[in-house]
Amino acid sequence: MIVTTQKEFSDVLAALGAGRRWVVVGCAECAAICQTGGSAQVEEMARRLEDAGREVLAQVSLASPCDRRLSRRDLRHVEAELRAADGVLCLSCGGGVQAVAGLVDRPVVAGLDAHFAGTVERLGVFHEECALCGDCLLNETAGTCPVALCPKGLRNGPCEGSHDGRCEADAEAECVWERIHARLAEAGSEECFTAFHRAPDPNRWGRPRTTRAPAGGAR
Ligand code: SF4
Ligand code: SF4
Repeated sequence: MIVTTQKEFSDVLAALGAGRRWVVVGCAECAAICQTGGSAQVEEMARRLEDAGREVLAQVSLASPCDRRLSRRDLRHVEAELRAADGVLCLSCGGGVQAVAGLVDRPVVAGLDAHFAGTVERLGVFHEECALCGDCLLNETAGTCPVALCPKGLRNGPCEGSHDGRCEADAEAECVWERIHARLAEAGSEECFTAFHRAPDPNRWGRPRTTRAPAGGAR
């Protein structure tokens, strides 16, 4: 899931500019889990906007703002309000903001900052465990990602600063390569890690990245 935090309310107000009438949309997926753009946060944001002298014409929680198919469907419920509004405040990741902007004929303002694709420990505690590098090493690193978990993103083993199993960038943290080697050794699979792993080919995975499912399904 995409981990987000809310922008400062003063920054949101500044981004709204002079527009008086707004539709506030949220995200029932990732931003709801982050408690940054779920229905409770949409309601709270609407209340704060009203307190700040803006008019909120509608509040809507989109099933998944980044999914244009679902957002097109959900936004039909507020078509009249969208026509009357000066703009839309979107509490979702940037992908959701841009997908919504492509569906409405109004300015769309981002209310959140998106940080990383994370796993969920519990509400409010998220971990970055995959940096979306496009060339997954997990099968060779005993299921532990060095790209996300090593501060230097090293793909081929520890740096020279690794000392007694600790990370040179953070003495409180273990060097992730220590964990990888221990797990490989435990599984008797050290030979898994004999090949050199180049950085992912930027020509293959340059930005913006797009994937298309192959005809006939999975490869
Ligand atoms: S190697 Fe790490 S960053 Fe790359 S795809 Fe696999 S889990 Fe994600
Ligand atoms: S000590 Fe280990 S985890 Fe820390 S930066 Fe070096 S290789 Fe990465």
